[in-house]
Amino acid sequence: MEERKRIYLCLAHMSEAGLEQKYIQEAFDTNWVVPLGPNVSGFEADLESFVGQGKHVVALSSGTAALHLALLLCGVEKGDEVIVQSFTFCASSNPVAYLGANPVFVDSEAKSWNLSPDMLECAIKSRISETGKCPKAIIPVALYGMPYDVDAILKIAAKYNIPVVEDAAEGFGSRWNGRVLGTFGDYGVLSFNGNKMITTSGGGALICPSEEAKRKAMWLATQAREAYPYYHHLAIGYNYRMSNICAGIGRGQMHIVNEHIMHHKHVHELYENGMKNVKGVEIHSNPTALSDSNYWLCTLLLDENVEVKGQGGMYRDAASESIGGIISEVHKSKNPHTDCEPNPNVEALRVWLDKKGIESRPLWKPMHKQPVYESSVAYCNGVSEALFKKGLCLPSGPMVSDRDVEYIIQCICEAIV
Ligand SMILES: *Cc1c(COP(=O)(O)O)cnc(C)c1O
Repeated sequence: MEERKRIYLCLAHMSEAGLEQKYIQEAFDTNWVVPLGPNVSGFEADLESFVGQGKHVVALSSGTAALHLALLLCGVEKGDEVIVQSFTFCASSNPVAYLGANPVFVDSEAKSWNLSPDMLECAIKSRISETGKCPKAIIPVALYGMPYDVDAILKIAAKYNIPVVEDAAEGFGSRWNGRVLGTFGDYGVLSFNGNKMITTSGGGALICPSEEAKRKAMWLATQAREAYPYYHHLAIGYNYRMSNICAGIGRGQMHIVNEHIMHHKHVHELYENGMKNVKGVEIHSNPTALSDSNYWLCTLLLDENVEVKGQGGMYRDAASESIGGIISEVHKSKNPHTDCEPNPNVEALRVWLDKKGIESRPLWKPMHKQPVYESSVAYCNGVSEALFKKGLCLPSGPMVSDRDVEYIIQCICEAIV
């Protein structure tokens, strides 16, 4: 019998021509093995031409670093409040905590799954009346690549004069009304981690509104050095610049980024068509004519009344494997339950697919339900919690073939009783 390769959510994929290695070799040959150099500048130029709009881009060591710098550039300080979409990965809100500022979590709208404009305005009004101060920034997130309602969010931000930092880490190449995400707000954040739309192994970028903002970001990212022959510092800086080696990978990846995006969209279409007649299963798709998701991860919602084989036995044992990383002995879960977890049928489907050699993963658990953010203020409407309980991310990356999707759909159908 033919051995089937395990199918992952989104694996890195290099250009057929090996361009990444060519750029890396150049860095070695010219001895630019440092966090600046021709690949860094070249990658930034490629990104600037990709995002357009006359924006300026700084390549950094991670998307998290880009968010951290964006908040600093927005003037966020200790004790300030920053509005963050609650339905996200922790990297959206952790930089707020790094600054000693307080995230204020705001729930999602049902159609895009992202920051609800109505809830956003409620939250701003409520913060002003409770603290007498306006939040210092707003962070909407293109979760799984899906655009947020850019127009509505920008309108509210302008009304209260609050800067917007777009977390487009998962939404590289997604568009709203034809324009690339990350170019609407005051700042935009991209990630090139190993599992994102393109990779530099690890890395990120900050989209800046001006040459001046770019220079300031670069200064902060290189330990805030002043122009003297010796080290002289007026401010606390960070070591956040991208290395010339990583940027070489990025330059190679920029040759295939459009192919990657097209492939993710194609995979989404296969799921959507292949599951349209499966009762109780819904594939998340662009909710408006202005939304153009890169479909970084395709996701499904499973109605809670759908019965999945084996669902009775779910959550009996504590997780012994980690999802997406290494679990240390110390951090092994003790209790198989938390107070907010995917429905048993969703967990049963995940386990079923796992046994068939298919990686899937629950949707991101909302930040307002994370114990680490227990004491943070949150404005909730139940949307993100309900989605978290019903949703699963499916293999979507450049290594996922048409036959793989067919097999995945077949396995999902078999799992349903
Ligand atoms: C991946 C990710 C980030 C951070 O990017 P890194 O490069 O991994 O630091 C930020 N926000 C979201 C929503 C992400 O998925």
